[in-house]
Amino acid sequence: MNAEQLRECGHRMVDFIADYYKDIENFPVLSQVQPGYLRQLLPGSAPVHPDTLEDVLDDMQRKILPGVTHWQSPNFFAYYPSNSSVAGFLGEMLSAGINMVGFSWITSPAATELEMIVLDWLAKALNLPDDFLSTGRGGGVIQGTASEAVLVVLLAARDKVLRKIGKDAIGKLVVYSSDQTHSALQKACQIAGIHPDNCRVLKTDSSTDYALSPESLSEAITHDLAIGLVPFFLCATVGSTSSTAVDPLLALGKITKSNGIWFHVDAAYAGSSCVCPELRHYIDGVEEADSFNMNAHKWFLTNFDCSILWVKDRSALIQSLSTNPEFLKNNASEKNVVVDYKDWQIPLGRRFRSLKLWMVLRLYGLENLQAYIRNHIKLARDFEELVAQDSRFEIVAPRKFSLVCFRLLSPQSDEDCANKLNRDLLDAANSTGKIYISHTVLSNKYTLRFAVGAPLTEERHVVDAWKVLQVEASNLLRTL
Ligand code: PLP
Repeated sequence: MNAEQLRECGHRMVDFIADYYKDIENFPVLSQVQPGYLRQLLPGSAPVHPDTLEDVLDDMQRKILPGVTHWQSPNFFAYYPSNSSVAGFLGEMLSAGINMVGFSWITSPAATELEMIVLDWLAKALNLPDDFLSTGRGGGVIQGTASEAVLVVLLAARDKVLRKIGKDAIGKLVVYSSDQTHSALQKACQIAGIHPDNCRVLKTDSSTDYALSPESLSEAITHDLAIGLVPFFLCATVGSTSSTAVDPLLALGKITKSNGIWFHVDAAYAGSSCVCPELRHYIDGVEEADSFNMNAHKWFLTNFDCSILWVKDRSALIQSLSTNPEFLKNNASEKNVVVDYKDWQIPLGRRFRSLKLWMVLRLYGLENLQAYIRNHIKLARDFEELVAQDSRFEIVAPRKFSLVCFRLLSPQSDEDCANKLNRDLLDAANSTGKIYISHTVLSNKYTLRFAVGAPLTEERHVVDAWKVLQVEASNLLRTL
């Protein structure tokens, strides 16, 4: 690393990225390239002699950016957002610049200690119970994704129960979730060796706004106990991926507690919003949970990746995930006076993960983060009103946060035709390159999802997006 070279190239790179953000609205939001496009543009093998940075940036502009879908575009309304910010970007730069590997406290004490402090700050901002703070038996850890978060707590819960009933009973363990739970749980079960027949996916419907009903959980547990199985894990969701359904944490938590079941709350998207006091009620009952997860990289201005997991009993994680090879032994770890985050996650190595969250919290302050969330919710409400005013459309599920689920009504009563019509509308709108939205299926209805959450989105983008949808809808309806 040559410091002067870094200074020069770093400035050039920051200029490139700043120009990218300045021009971002000129790109089609959804990349319009065909599969395999890049192989035709790049050489078949690595250069033997070095290229210049200018050559690389030139290729970046002409060959790579056309194949990028612009998640930071103000016209990106698909999936859930993946926020960037100057603060998050600077934190990422610092982390890349320092480039330490903080798997154990000793390998960079500040990395571990800052993460513990920052996650305690955020736990307090969310008004999480004190049990989740690192000052007691619990604590927070930054994972890459919500998928990793649910996997590590599933492993911890599995091993905790198997220590009691014996390893051979793994085939009896039962996991509960709803049909709205993210597929990350299914993957975690596959990795954790939970028998596929023992993954209870409880049905939800529009009568509970797709929330998991405590009665159906109770019934399933009673049935499983009666046939000799061992209920051990529930994953509830606050802000489900399809429609922002909110499971009733308090009632579910009472059931898990009385049955000795690990209770995990996945608030990957909606958790961030709970820093606003008026939205905090969505996680009421979190005091019953054993673990709680939110993705700061979704809706909290922290560049990907930054998925925060809090647990009440860190020893459960550590008992499941710790290793202690000779080459990593050190006094601080041996004396058991420090946190070694290697024992709270799947990989060994880890970046200075907390820097960007620390920068975000400091450079915005909670009041600006709250205003940021509230603005997106207002923009989503605006969009919802626009949809409601056009009688050709319907709102499919109630809006709670910044996602609107809606669909175009079909003149034909046949459900297949209605589904095809909405699929065609999605394709038509996205292929304009002006906006990008995604879809889900709710009660067999193909449903369009409009998720506000890109940091650059303003009212005009929402209004223009609605116009694109209206124009494409009119075109399609004319062809019927
Ligand atoms: N849980 C919920 C509710 C989500 O919406 C998502 C992704 O959108 C996930 C989990 C998976 O997130 P990740 O990509 O961080 O694993």
